Amino acid sequence: MKNNDISILGSGLIGSLLSIYLRKRGLDVHMYEKRADNRKSAYKEEGRSINMALSDRGWKALEDLGLTEKVKPLTIPMYGRKIHDEHGKTTFIPYGKEGQAIYSISRGKFNQLLIDEAEAAGVNLHFEHKIEDVSLKDNTLLVSNPEASHQKIHSEVIIGSDGAYSALRNAMLKQVRFDYKQEYISHGYKELTIPATESGEFAMDPNALHIWPRGSFMLIALPNPDKSFTCTLFLPFEGKRVCFENIRDEKDVEGVFKTYFDDAFELMPNLSKEYFTNPTAALINIECFPWMQGKSLLIGDASHAMVPFYGQGMNCGFEDCYILDKLINKFGTNAWELVFAKFQKVRKPDTDAICQLAMENFEEMKNAVSDPKFQIRKKIEAKLHNLYPLDWIPLYTMVTFSDMPYSEAYAQGKLQESIMDRVMADPLITQNWDKLDYEDIIDQMDKAKAV
Ligand SMILES: Cc1cc2nc3c(=O)[nH]c(=O)nc-3n(C[C@H](O)[C@H](O)[C@H](O)COP(=O)(O)OP(=O)(O)OC[C@H]3O[C@@H](n4cnc5c(N)ncnc54)[C@H](O)[C@@H]3O)c2cc1C
Repeated sequence: MKNNDISILGSGLIGSLLSIYLRKRGLDVHMYEKRADNRKSAYKEEGRSINMALSDRGWKALEDLGLTEKVKPLTIPMYGRKIHDEHGKTTFIPYGKEGQAIYSISRGKFNQLLIDEAEAAGVNLHFEHKIEDVSLKDNTLLVSNPEASHQKIHSEVIIGSDGAYSALRNAMLKQVRFDYKQEYISHGYKELTIPATESGEFAMDPNALHIWPRGSFMLIALPNPDKSFTCTLFLPFEGKRVCFENIRDEKDVEGVFKTYFDDAFELMPNLSKEYFTNPTAALINIECFPWMQGKSLLIGDASHAMVPFYGQGMNCGFEDCYILDKLINKFGTNAWELVFAKFQKVRKPDTDAICQLAMENFEEMKNAVSDPKFQIRKKIEAKLHNLYPLDWIPLYTMVTFSDMPYSEAYAQGKLQESIMDRVMADPLITQNWDKLDYEDIIDQMDKAKAV
């Protein structure tokens, strides 16, 4: 039987990044991936969003590994949301202060870069190696690959970064006192494209995340370096109104797009073909505990898959890696069980908080962003933050542009929300918002914090 120091399951974004961290400590790191090497064939993700928003927590881990300058050229900054109403009118809502942005990046290219870096660092890569099972009592992997149908590999440490349907988590599920909760939401998603214009330019402002919020459903678009946009259509699977189940042919697709997303429709020459070729994918939230059994640990989506509406799944997974590395630094590589125990203890309240926030942000994105009062609310919060930068930090800023623990951001965000609800209850708020007593709002916040 083969013997490894460290086996990482899955070479997605989190597994690849973690493998670099561990290899830098001089450990013998093996990474097992069920798919073929995505650097050798045209990259094809099965129904997973092709580009994603990278923000401060993600950048922090990349910076820590000296990868910022390599990743930057793959990104496009998005400084705010551009809201498209049903008549094609757009409104820009900045994400934060001037210059603050989240960064659109292709999942495939990013993953390839991280795998290249892992390989250069000396990580042993094993593609087309599927983990069939994990024996937790003797830390052994049962692996199948094209050459050997069932190979046993013993490993001192096993880390499951094998995503929402993790094989390591499945093994943990068979243990007593393992808590597990999964929830599919009512909506699914489908990818579509707005290609570059005939003259090779972006068809819309590339420095924004475009949103077409329509109540129970929405379309979003993120820019790509090749001047196209990847759009994601979020619809309920079934229902009486617009939903995947009710879109059966080209006429239905065109009808929905012309009615609700007409300005986007004009820019989507391949809409019908893509709609029926691309898969419809489900969205899941997973929470489980404990994340460890002896010297095995779950990380990233394997331990806390969240719905994508805060753009934090990958960023949170990168932050997992950063925090784990700092604990290894403190306690050494001979104390894995202690490191893992500390890791899950410190991290679980934070991942619970971001999973919850991601669920709540779904409502905000598909509904509230198109409400003029929502835009006023954002303006009031931005002004409060400008006037009192330490006392009032908008929730989105705490989550996206800081590394404050998610659970603290959540708690402070809830206090601020209750105060803002009172402020927004004023029927004249749309006219008066600029003349509010901003100092009084901060006083209310101080009092609420003191309780
Ligand atoms: C529509 C959508 C949009 C998103 N947008 C954002 C965003 O803007 N910003 C953000 O931060 N996050 C976003 N996310 C979340 C982000 O995609 C995930 O949090 C992140 O990809 C998790 O990475 P991971 O490495 O933990 O898991 P995965 O990316 O799922 O990688 C797991 C890897 O393990 C492999 N694997 C699985 N099972 C086995 C097995 N048995 N044996 C061997 N290998 C196996 C898989 O092939 C895969 O390569 C989005 C998610 C979705 C669905």
